Amino acid sequence: TKYILQVRNLKKYFPVKGLFFTKGYVKAVDGVSFEILRGETFGLVGESGCGKTTVGRTILRLIEPTDGQILFEGKDIMKFSKKDINRFRRKAQIMFQDPYSSLNPRQTVFQIVMEPVRHHGIEVDDPEAFVIDLLERVGLNESHLYRYPHEFSGGQRQRIAMARILSLKPEFVVLDEPTSALDVSVQANILNTLKDIQDEYKLTYLFISHDLAIVKYMSHRIGVMYLGKLAEVGNSESIFEEPLHPYTKALFSAIPIPDPDIEKKKERIKVIGEPPSPINPPEGCRFNPRCQYAKDICREKEPELKKVDSDRFVACWLY
Ligand code: SF4
Repeated sequence: TKYILQVRNLKKYFPVKGLFFTKGYVKAVDGVSFEILRGETFGLVGESGCGKTTVGRTILRLIEPTDGQILFEGKDIMKFSKKDINRFRRKAQIMFQDPYSSLNPRQTVFQIVMEPVRHHGIEVDDPEAFVIDLLERVGLNESHLYRYPHEFSGGQRQRIAMARILSLKPEFVVLDEPTSALDVSVQANILNTLKDIQDEYKLTYLFISHDLAIVKYMSHRIGVMYLGKLAEVGNSESIFEEPLHPYTKALFSAIPIPDPDIEKKKERIKVIGEPPSPINPPEGCRFNPRCQYAKDICREKEPELKKVDSDRFVACWLY
């Protein structure tokens, strides 16, 4: 299969506890389907609380889905045997947003990078040379080997996290806002290193971010999430040139695009108000209270994600 990952109708509901009984559910992810091609970067973008991080964690089985199917290399990850899970944990990794809490402060860089290797019982002939090689691939070097996380900047810590991820030679990495906690001045360098190691290791990425400019820079294809659902999926360039879903249009009109031709064509659209609560999402299209194109059907029936072009899907009654 050309897909490394296939997600079908994924749902994740979190119970909201009342004093004596469950008051309701936060429908963090509510019926999301998409595929990721081997070797590509699939960007998942949306405002905070739209469910993108929950999608990233659920597909790695860090949290259990409420419903739906996740296929990794064609196999249902919920039906994995113990051995399959072990193999999956080597092949599929995650890089977290916060470089300050994701590394053990009492371990040296050497220990941090070797930890997953030891955990999986992988034999390495010369551990020092092995770690130095990984450090060099992510822009660090031998002099960093026996230092501790507190001696490094945020950007360098993300590089250490990259080396640790690469120690297992993964195939698929979820990058969950990997540069959001960093200074703008170091973000581009980290993103470029992520691109370099993707080429070198033939990695597939799921890139999660609220930052459109970064998602565009990193991704081949993009999924736009709104309140637990995908509003639009498509090729990164075509989405940026011509966003179809009113929510995508509104998101994109808020960011400046360096290309003046696109900038001129862009419709200036404002979203009205704050995103509604995912506990009681609006009836019909979830975007309808904020949408300037909403018509009767939008308040009654939820639009499905429909194919409108060879590589373009949109969930909106306008199409
Ligand atoms: Fe707007 Fe209706 Fe499209 Fe929803 S379905 S985005 S309310 S036009």
